[in-house]
Amino acid sequence: KDTIVRVPAACTAQGYVEIGGQNVVMMAGPCTVESEKQLLTTAEAVLEKGAVILRGGAFKPSTSPYGYRGMGLEGLKLLAKARDTFGLAVITEVMTPTDVSLVSEYADILQIGTRNMQNYMLLDEVGRSNMPVVLKRGMSAKIEEWLLAAEYILAQGNKNVILCERGIRTFESATRNTMDLSAIPVVKNLSHLPIISDPSQGTGHRHLVEAMSLASVTAGSDGLLVEVHPNPEEALKDGAQSLTIGQYQQLMARLNGVALAV
Ligand code: PEP
Repeated sequence: KDTIVRVPAACTAQGYVEIGGQNVVMMAGPCTVESEKQLLTTAEAVLEKGAVILRGGAFKPSTSPYGYRGMGLEGLKLLAKARDTFGLAVITEVMTPTDVSLVSEYADILQIGTRNMQNYMLLDEVGRSNMPVVLKRGMSAKIEEWLLAAEYILAQGNKNVILCERGIRTFESATRNTMDLSAIPVVKNLSHLPIISDPSQGTGHRHLVEAMSLASVTAGSDGLLVEVHPNPEEALKDGAQSLTIGQYQQLMARLNGVALAV
């Protein structure tokens, strides 16, 4: 039986959103929480055009130790403020087992990033919580390894697991990662878990996000996780892959006809 993960979302008609049900769930927001103004401006804009879940990193993994690593607790508080203001549910990354309880106080969905897909202590800890979890695919992980990582969470009793295809590492360098769109129907065939797609991390280029969003939905994705920034040129992280608010509105217009969870 397919798993449906229910997440409270006051902005929806029924007060919750289901991931893995009939409808495509839009999750959008900045890569990284940078300020109250940046977050609330983005939250309002994405809510107005179909998003029911706000994304935003507070604890950020960074390939370089000199890259921006997020606002931490202050970022979590801003996400909670955005939820209180707009009724959007909140998804944000948790990087360590010791942060799981803290992040759970402020988030509705815990995100496990690509770099931590096989951090088994972290998987065990989120498995012991009952929080919805988005488990991103490791950048070099086979689908079998990804499903077994999900199994770590399920084995601890947490059934609220959502998989996220976010691109894998290949020889191709025209894109930041290679979106493995075939992973979506493969996972649908092998697993009962819902699967969403992250075309922002998956491509690394904002001009590719719309095409890969449409392709993901066509391939059967249960939702999209999309980065949006009021001024991507000035973003502290991943501006190149962040949509402007106008581009986000255009993406939503292109998704017209797709049954969205609202
Ligand atoms: C993110 O979504 O903020 C992120 C860092 O993604 P990934 O783990 O896929 O690189």
